[in-house]
Amino acid sequence: MTEESVVRIALLLPDVLGTYSDRGNAIVLAQRLRLRGIPAQVIPVSAETAAPTSCDVYVIGGGEDAAQAFAVQWLVDQPALLTALQTTEVLAVCAGMQVLGDWMEDSGGRRVAGASVLDLTTTSGRLRAVGEVVADCTDGDVQTLTGFENHSGHTCLGADATPLGRVLVGTGNGDGTDGVLTASAVGTYLHGPVLARNPTLADFVLRRATGQVLPELQVPDEAAARDLHLRQARRRRPRSGSRRA
Ligand code: GLN
Repeated sequence: MTEESVVRIALLLPDVLGTYSDRGNAIVLAQRLRLRGIPAQVIPVSAETAAPTSCDVYVIGGGEDAAQAFAVQWLVDQPALLTALQTTEVLAVCAGMQVLGDWMEDSGGRRVAGASVLDLTTTSGRLRAVGEVVADCTDGDVQTLTGFENHSGHTCLGADATPLGRVLVGTGNGDGTDGVLTASAVGTYLHGPVLARNPTLADFVLRRATGQVLPELQVPDEAAARDLHLRQARRRRPRSGSRRA
């Protein structure tokens, strides 16, 4: 097996944006490849390290306001990484999505410039959205999304940007949509980790990252776990359940 045939999954700043276990998304991507006989490598890129710029997919997760401010500086200090993030498959969750946008507000209402990889901005809401989320994905190949949100950001997409989902339960971006979907990026407010909860989204990311049609994969108990999460989510009233931070 040549080194080039290994799918390289960069996990950006697990030590800074690691509060919500979103590193699990990188593990899910690697494992779903390995179960299909495709070699995969997760490359954790911590704050002291320069990020590799030739990975097949980049994953970045959620965290607190101070961690986000650090992450933006770390990203903009690496122009070659920013270029890679514009052209390579990216999965960005919550704070990770916000920092890739044009700007965001912290919980004190102070505006922080983002890395401008994604066409979106985030204001700070008065209420914190905490709880289960269900959303229909705007891509027809991806099953209904389930996840868990914990944020106060309200995200507004640029005029030509497409959301990842239409929210059925929970808050997401705050306007009835969740996240963003571009030709090479998936952004979402869903933790879980979102790819563990949503295998069809994991395969969507992998298909785009590898350019390969991937065979079906049967993972025991996957469907039962999804049913359980969807049942739990119905206990949260549609687009409510937020509480003060
Ligand atoms: N600090 C951000 C917010 O509250 C992101 C939180 C998160 O990543 N879960 O909106």
